[in-house]
Amino acid sequence: MKVIAPAKNDQIQKSDNKQSDTLGLFNSTQLIIKEAVQKLGYNDDVYELLKEPLRTITVRIPVRMDNGSIKIFTGYRSQHNDAVGPTKGGVRFHPEVNESEVKALSIWMTLKCGIANLPYGGGKGGINCDPRNLSFRELERLSRGYVRAISQIVGPTKDIPAPDVYTNSQIMAWMMDEYSRLREFDSPGFITGKPLVLGGSHGREAATARGVTICIEEAVKKKDIELQGARIIIQGFGNAGSFLAKFMHDAGAKVIGISDAHGALYDSEGLDIDYLLDRRDSFGTVTNLFTDVITNQELLEKECDILVPAAISNQITAQNAHHIKASILVEAANGPTTLEATKILHERGVLLVPDVLASAGGVTVSYFEWVQNNQGYYWPEEEVAEKLRKVMVDSFKAIYKTSQAHQVDMRLAAYMVGIRKTAEASRLRGWV
Ligand code: GLU
Repeated sequence: MKVIAPAKNDQIQKSDNKQSDTLGLFNSTQLIIKEAVQKLGYNDDVYELLKEPLRTITVRIPVRMDNGSIKIFTGYRSQHNDAVGPTKGGVRFHPEVNESEVKALSIWMTLKCGIANLPYGGGKGGINCDPRNLSFRELERLSRGYVRAISQIVGPTKDIPAPDVYTNSQIMAWMMDEYSRLREFDSPGFITGKPLVLGGSHGREAATARGVTICIEEAVKKKDIELQGARIIIQGFGNAGSFLAKFMHDAGAKVIGISDAHGALYDSEGLDIDYLLDRRDSFGTVTNLFTDVITNQELLEKECDILVPAAISNQITAQNAHHIKASILVEAANGPTTLEATKILHERGVLLVPDVLASAGGVTVSYFEWVQNNQGYYWPEEEVAEKLRKVMVDSFKAIYKTSQAHQVDMRLAAYMVGIRKTAEASRLRGWV
């Protein structure tokens, strides 16, 4: 790898038409829910209930900036369905956050919780902002302002937020503190993904990547591929992507490609993962240190055994699905593959492990964190890891079995497994 500064491409990765992309995501989510409801033999009432979140709020958050001016930010919180239990899901800080995206993401959280058999429904939140342009204190004021704005509809037994794109344990700490001050009692169970000293759980930070790793281990068995020496490409070097690169490297796989929002690095002999991990900044940026950078789109089409999109949505579409060389595609990001692309890949015999299964490790360890907060009793790391492994292996097997039994792709199978519990709980409550 040639290391020569500075960055040659300063553009943040964006989809060309994000608004319509996410409307597409929401609509395609509804389409698969409809298909899953029909396959499961439920009536239309179930679809009518599940096709939209029960509640979505938009808030405006005034923040005093460091230069003394006031800036108003727009935030959202969406609660898809709380028949099973309180809603649960992360809060993202990103310049492209919008209502339709947050709504779709809250539906996916219902599916993830259903797949992992957690006693939650799905929720999601977001603030339209670019945290890379905010100071530490501005970020704190924004995080606290968001909690004040949504405080009426969230809480440890109502809706429990967590980290997501560009939010981290420090932000969770501020949010927990703000909520505890508002309620006038310590409320660690209000939010997950906290630092360890504030009631966080061992293993939460790496949980999404651990979950993806377990899915990869199960997937390679189905395709008769040895993980040792397998060639893997990871798009994205944020929380999930960077931990995953480390785990794959440690497992003896050859990580031949990684990327960040600015570009991608590729080396068929394998990248120096320890060096890249050491040099990445807190937003996962590392390609700005190199000159021989390719684009994210080029990276996806490179020869490899396992491809893991771990960045943003709508990366694999009808345009490039035919050019994907991997035989296993594991979605660590939310929504990286469109519905059309899913069908193309399935027909081509690519084993696609969908986001709602592959990335369920994060919310699973969030659940463990919440349980520990509720009991005030904390588990060692091995206990968390063992419990996570069991959840992920069971979930993978259930979805694989459903896909074989119904002759459907893994995404539809995951939706079928994911909505069963919510549909049943809604029926028992008399909602459908
Ligand atoms: N934001 C993560 C997700 O999309 C984690 C959610 C949680 O831990 O509640 O799955």
